Amino acid sequence: MNRMVDTSAPRGFDLHTHSVHSDGTTSPSEIVAAAAAIGLPGFALTDHDTISGWDEARDAATARGIDFLPGMEITTEHDGRSRHLLAYGIDPAAGELFAALALVRSARLERAREMVRRVSRDYRISWDDVVGAEDARTVGRPHIADALVAAGYFADRGMAFERVLFPGSPYYLGTYAIATRDAIRMVRAAGGRAVLAHPAALRQRRPVRPEELAALAAEGLWGVELEHPEHREDWVPPLREAAERLGLAATGASDFHGAGKPNELGECTTPESVVARLRDGLATPR
Ligand code: AMP
Ligand code: FE
Ligand code: FE
Ligand code: ZN
Repeated sequence: MNRMVDTSAPRGFDLHTHSVHSDGTTSPSEIVAAAAAIGLPGFALTDHDTISGWDEARDAATARGIDFLPGMEITTEHDGRSRHLLAYGIDPAAGELFAALALVRSARLERAREMVRRVSRDYRISWDDVVGAEDARTVGRPHIADALVAAGYFADRGMAFERVLFPGSPYYLGTYAIATRDAIRMVRAAGGRAVLAHPAALRQRRPVRPEELAALAAEGLWGVELEHPEHREDWVPPLREAAERLGLAATGASDFHGAGKPNELGECTTPESVVARLRDGLATPR
């Protein structure tokens, strides 16, 4: 865990944030306002499997003079393991990618319904408590956690995950994920760049191996998120060495989810020189 608080304003971009368009708790405009308040020069909105927050984020960022980079975090899997893939600057009209994402989102909806059926045998929550009025967002376990918190069972999302929603729990179900290599290929075909998210997150049983990074680099992966608040620091050096050897860019980001996680906006960032390289030639650079 890296929770060292830097008292100076962040110098780089926060390239990984979530809004109410997926499992964050703040609107894209509220992220922009928070970014302005801490003096962040720019940020990327990377909601899970959707770009529906882009327009609001872009408008708010323009109004506040903050630099906006459009992104998304795609639900993928490699060799049976969950891998989150950040995609930047994709063309919003890319047919193959968005057809695949529509499948991911509808599978998420079915999976969440079944998980709620299971959870509701032991906890008094209903499907309406989970989706509410906002059914356009990408649904996930955090929304079930929020319903359990609202019903008074747990103090926060973290407790609901620990007690009810963790993988291996009788209430848990996996969900359809795109093969990571296919997602990388589709992101590139959509004029974007792909970055592997949080490869050393504590929540995983073990970190992504350097060999896997090499395999994904061969598929066209552009970068790897080496700085992340949930990383186990002793897992990072082998990945940093592999990234350097493979010519992958290194990014840093907070994975901000509003009140849904302790991660603070701007607590990890990516230098503007790296952002400039990332942006160069993207289908949708802003
Ligand atoms: P899902 O994609 O529906 O399986 O849910 C995974 C999401 O849950 C991740 O994107 C995280 O944002 C969130 N998450 C996982 N574990 C926790 C936790 N302990 N506390 C809060 N959010 C969590
Ligand atoms: Fe999330
Ligand atoms: Fe993630
Ligand atoms: Zn994320």
